Amino acid sequence: MKVRHHQQVDQAPVTMEGSSGCHVRWLVDEQQGAPNFAMREFEVEPGGYTPRHSHPYEHEVFVLAGDGVVVEGDVEHPLRAGDVVFVVPGEVHQFRNTGNAPLRFLCMVPNSSASQKPALAAECSRPQDETADAAPKKA
Ligand SMILES: [Zn+2]
Repeated sequence: MKVRHHQQVDQAPVTMEGSSGCHVRWLVDEQQGAPNFAMREFEVEPGGYTPRHSHPYEHEVFVLAGDGVVVEGDVEHPLRAGDVVFVVPGEVHQFRNTGNAPLRFLCMVPNSSASQKPALAAECSRPQDETADAAPKKA
């Protein structure tokens, strides 16, 4: 068993294209010997957001603090502390901070996700083919 405080885990910026103002702590993962799942804690600054993306594995999310929305395709669901989100495999999703304080949530993924590259999705559209033209789109 391993017991520690989340603040003992280094927080790293999320560098994935399409994200802004996001940081992540890998609280439990393969490096600690977890065979199946990784528990991550995300912190999104006011006005920040995670990439709008999809992938073939699910997320289990628990909102710890802050106010925001989770975007499901073209629909926005409001989020507050205590809310639980299940993102099913293949669903386009994005977390946005709409409040004035950090939006913090736990997000679980299977360790097999490390070898699967998420697909970025343009606004109001389906996930883009990785081979598609990467030119920025006008709003
Ligand atoms: Zn995701």
